[in-house]
Amino acid sequence: MSFKLTSEDYVNTLIKIAHKIDENKDYITELDSITGDGDHWANMNMGFQKIIDQEEAFKQMGLSDLFKNIGMTLMKSIGGSSGVLYGSAYIACSKKLKDVEVIDDHVLLDIYETSLNAIMERGKAKPGFKTMIDTLYPAVIAYKAALEENKPSKEALEILTQAAEEGMNSTKDMEAVKGRATYQANKGVGHLDPGAVTMYFQIDMLTEYIHNNIIS
Ligand code: ADP
Ligand code: MG
Repeated sequence: MSFKLTSEDYVNTLIKIAHKIDENKDYITELDSITGDGDHWANMNMGFQKIIDQEEAFKQMGLSDLFKNIGMTLMKSIGGSSGVLYGSAYIACSKKLKDVEVIDDHVLLDIYETSLNAIMERGKAKPGFKTMIDTLYPAVIAYKAALEENKPSKEALEILTQAAEEGMNSTKDMEAVKGRATYQANKGVGHLDPGAVTMYFQIDMLTEYIHNNIIS
């Protein structure tokens, strides 16, 4: 049987993500200082703090409205590319979530796949460009395969998170093709992409929330 996440659960996971990002200020700032312009932590932190500010209102919304409001909040409050990319992803998902009341494992796959497609389209980027896509793309492929094989929810989520982690780690040796790391002499080789790391945090925190609160 699948897990079922309500809007309240989803907002609770965003709060966990906000804390995770908050705790990793130095790490993410350092990665973006090496490969970009140093603001990725500040951007993501600002976006997620603005979500926390609206916690109570967000918990009352249906999923489609919730995703639309998250997308608009991130787009408005994050100055960098990640604001537009995550904003586009959440807004694309909100259209898919009309009349959907809870997130089960197939809805979660749809959310990740829709987000991936929106980010690739908006950023005109593909896997292998050393971006957040390199975490999400393999995660979507692996999760889709796990669900097609009817793996139990818990195992499918472990497969999702492990693929995301491996994807994140794969950015270390990549040369950047899009984004600010392309301006660096070595194109960021030898360092993880900060956007790939914060994408991993989000997937990992959602899985952890489901494991701790929904399925035991
Ligand atoms: P900016 O690059 O405008 O300073 P951020 O620092 O907030 O914005 O975000 C940087 C992250 O965004 C990068 O680490 C990378 O993962 C991601 N990124 C940048 N450009 C693109 C793109 N065109 N497509 C997908 N992801 C991108
Ligand atoms: Mg930046």
